[in-house]
Amino acid sequence: MRYGRAYDLREDTVMGSGNSNARILVGECYCRAVRYEVADAFSYAMNCHCSNCRRTTGAAFKPFAGIEQSKLRIVSGENQRTIYGDDTTHDAHCARCGSLLYSRVREGKWVHVAMGTLVDAPSIRPSVHIFVGSKAPWHEITDNLPQYRGHVGDV
Ligand SMILES: [Zn+2]
Ligand SMILES: [Zn+2]
Repeated sequence: MRYGRAYDLREDTVMGSGNSNARILVGECYCRAVRYEVADAFSYAMNCHCSNCRRTTGAAFKPFAGIEQSKLRIVSGENQRTIYGDDTTHDAHCARCGSLLYSRVREGKWVHVAMGTLVDAPSIRPSVHIFVGSKAPWHEITDNLPQYRGHVGDV
């Protein structure tokens, strides 16, 4: 019940942390040294086209999903992470293979999971494109999701 809302309806695949009813999703880096579990209870998901997200992933954009920090747990390789940034706000990579796993954001209270590292499919889908103002010129957005120049709301 901590995860609230629609997730209370799921009764089939309950496992893991405490009395929550959310499914637990597994994620991992390329070399599998670092594994995490996260509740399938993301509050939002977006495709970010900013130059930082493009560089940290090496991709045209970064699909990420946001959730409270307490709902993500490192299950192996905790000390094999490279933390880029400070204690509260940072990117967490695997120190061995370099995969970007997640970012701690919003004063450390939230994490943005790099959706490409999820092994299990989350319920949520990216709903918007953000920082399209700095999108790669060689990449064309071909879906109909809303596009914002910067953050959501920046037209
Ligand atoms: Zn790795
Ligand atoms: Zn970005």
